[in-house]
Amino acid sequence: MTSIPLNLALDYAKSLGLLMLNSAQQLDHAPFSLAPSPFKTSAFQQAEQLAPDFSQLMVKVANDKAFLSEILKKLDTADNFTQRLGKLYQQSHIDTTATQSISLGIWRSDYLLDQNEQLRHVEINLIASAFPAFASRISQLHTLLYPELASQLPDNPAYAESVNALARAWQSYGVEDAVICFIQQKAERNRFDQLALATALWQKFGIRSLFKELESLANEAHLNKDKLQIKHTEVALVYFRAAYVPSDLYNEATWQARLMLEQSAAIKCPSLPYQLSGMKIIQQQLSKPEILVHFIDDKHQQQRLQNSFMPFFALDEDISAALEKPENYVLKPQREGGGHNLYGKAWTEALKHMSYKEKRAWILMQRIEAKTTENQLIMQGKASDKHSVISELGIYQSCLSDGENYQHKNAGHLLRSKFAHHQEGGIAAGFAALDSPQLIEN
Ligand code: ADP
Ligand code: MG
Repeated sequence: MTSIPLNLALDYAKSLGLLMLNSAQQLDHAPFSLAPSPFKTSAFQQAEQLAPDFSQLMVKVANDKAFLSEILKKLDTADNFTQRLGKLYQQSHIDTTATQSISLGIWRSDYLLDQNEQLRHVEINLIASAFPAFASRISQLHTLLYPELASQLPDNPAYAESVNALARAWQSYGVEDAVICFIQQKAERNRFDQLALATALWQKFGIRSLFKELESLANEAHLNKDKLQIKHTEVALVYFRAAYVPSDLYNEATWQARLMLEQSAAIKCPSLPYQLSGMKIIQQQLSKPEILVHFIDDKHQQQRLQNSFMPFFALDEDISAALEKPENYVLKPQREGGGHNLYGKAWTEALKHMSYKEKRAWILMQRIEAKTTENQLIMQGKASDKHSVISELGIYQSCLSDGENYQHKNAGHLLRSKFAHHQEGGIAAGFAALDSPQLIEN
């Protein structure tokens, strides 16, 4: 492989718009790997093949009110944030009929390859599946830097397909001058991935986007009958790039705004039942064959999904085998966005201080012994030495559904690489770098 000078890689990355704000809100490049990372072709294809299976599964789960309500009841008061989301679900989807039956999903299923190069599902992100624009840009960057590898670097339509999906949802709302409202976090660092989507929505489709934090919506937005309006502008689609962690819903105003959005006729990406279907506890439930068959009839689909799932346990199940080998398990809370999992001894220790009630908020997942490769990661303008890295493959998929029917589309991919000695992943969380797969035959 050609040796690429750091400055050239950095300049190209910046010129392609791979930019982020750092924690001091200063402009920096997004972390990225100097070269693409090798990834087995058949595993990549397997992950692509699983995307329609996941769409079918998640549409069924999200629309099964009895199942979702049962899980929320089981969580009870274990976790204040989820409990409050559960109340909101009750108010907007159970006690009343939802005003808008259509929901858009821009989802990403994440996988690791284990030591035997088997594809293992880590999680599916149903809200705030970040980086669709940057996913395409990092693929472009690696193709630019390594033209000799072009035939092994798959096309990556994540950017275009996400924009198309947002536009399709906007079109199905059917109001010419309505806008898309991006819900963003306070001090959002990943602003440029979002602006890239808004730019293409305008250039390709003439659709205008607004960016709002929940708290400002509490003041500026209102319902006109069911229509969501920001001042006089009607909102066709609310695209959540926030509102999935407790720090996004930090006071009554933000919760009121979240409820107003859910009760409005605007299409949500995603609506609350889908957000809730992404809970880790749902993943744990679906890993049980007797629960999976409830949602998926086809034996081949069941088998494909099950082959990718790791074993999971709830903490009220028999976990004696896990306690004997804690290093082989990961304890996960009902949280998203990286940085919350407990590994090895840390989880057995934490367990000692948890009440019975608190334990319900956690699930135990068998650890994936991930295969490593070598790469250099570029962070804050500096390239690391060649290091052992673990690469996590995400497959984007878009899914526009009205509860019964849905349109699914595979929508590109994202590879994220982290140093093998780190347990956690997550680019925004500062643990991982954008990468792209170099497809290899074993
Ligand atoms: P979230 O992104 O919502 O915080 P994840 O389930 O994706 O939660 O976990 C965060 C990171 O932890 C993953 O990106 C992955 O690097 C690592 N991880 C999660 N589950 C496992 C597992 N079973 N085995 C090994 N690593 C894991
Ligand atoms: Mg994750």
